[in-house]
Amino acid sequence: MRYNNLSGYLRKKYGTRLSKICIDGGFTCPNRDGRCGFGGCSFCAERGAGEHINQSGSIREQVSAALTTAPTDGKFIAYFQNFTNTYAPVSILRERYDAALIDERIKILAVGTRPDCIDEEVAQLLASYLDRLDVWVELGFQTASDATAIRINRGYLKAQFFRAAEILHRYGIPFVVHIMLGLPCEVEADAIATVAAVNSVRPFGVKLHSTYVMRGTRLEEEYLRGEYTPIAREDYVRLCAECIARLRPDIILHRITGDCPRDLLVAPLWNTDKNGVIADINKYMKENRLCQGSRFSE
Ligand code: SF4
Repeated sequence: MRYNNLSGYLRKKYGTRLSKICIDGGFTCPNRDGRCGFGGCSFCAERGAGEHINQSGSIREQVSAALTTAPTDGKFIAYFQNFTNTYAPVSILRERYDAALIDERIKILAVGTRPDCIDEEVAQLLASYLDRLDVWVELGFQTASDATAIRINRGYLKAQFFRAAEILHRYGIPFVVHIMLGLPCEVEADAIATVAAVNSVRPFGVKLHSTYVMRGTRLEEEYLRGEYTPIAREDYVRLCAECIARLRPDIILHRITGDCPRDLLVAPLWNTDKNGVIADINKYMKENRLCQGSRFSE
């Protein structure tokens, strides 16, 4: 393997693969309700980055439904995915996380959020679970360019990302940083700069994925007006491989492609060939003698 992938890491640590239980925790997002913005990030669809979740009901019901048909010796990640899962008073956060942790087969609590919704109180709460199970936080960062952040209406600047990383480190909470390649107006140098910024905060993991246009988003409007052109498949393959080569060698890669539900995908259509794209990235890395960290420098 030319990079550290999540399944290899989990297999080594837990002796088996872990299945994700994706949970809609009933949160909203400060970039939608007006606290820091309206309308959300330009690429974000109605379900707030939880487009794969088909479950309904309370958190407990969602988790129970997922576990009902699961093997008794299975191991699971409870993943709070939709919207901003640390955006509520700490008492409510505790209630909702506890509602998911109802079975000993759940080994990891994963919480997706925005860097500007990480503070001391939230970190303290998350750290309080560490004696029972593993916890990781997923930070939607996408880019280190403040100009792009404004362009995509992300609603916070990169200084807040560095602040969140510092708080999480202080409380011993591992975090995974989401990076998007092919964002509007970005060129290769922007992606490489984002990787350098992410390396500097020493995350536990990274998710790399291509920017895709989903139905009902502002990015779709830009795309239809001809103001945004998605990255071409071969450019994504090359850029993704070059980013992996520049990542710290100890980071765990949780994802290297996008994964948009077919019924919501507007463009690029190559996005549906997830396995083919992964194979192309591996091929490119092999042909160019790249592996994770081979182009990393402090
Ligand atoms: S922060 Fe996340 S949930 Fe909120 S608008 Fe952006 S992508 Fe969507």
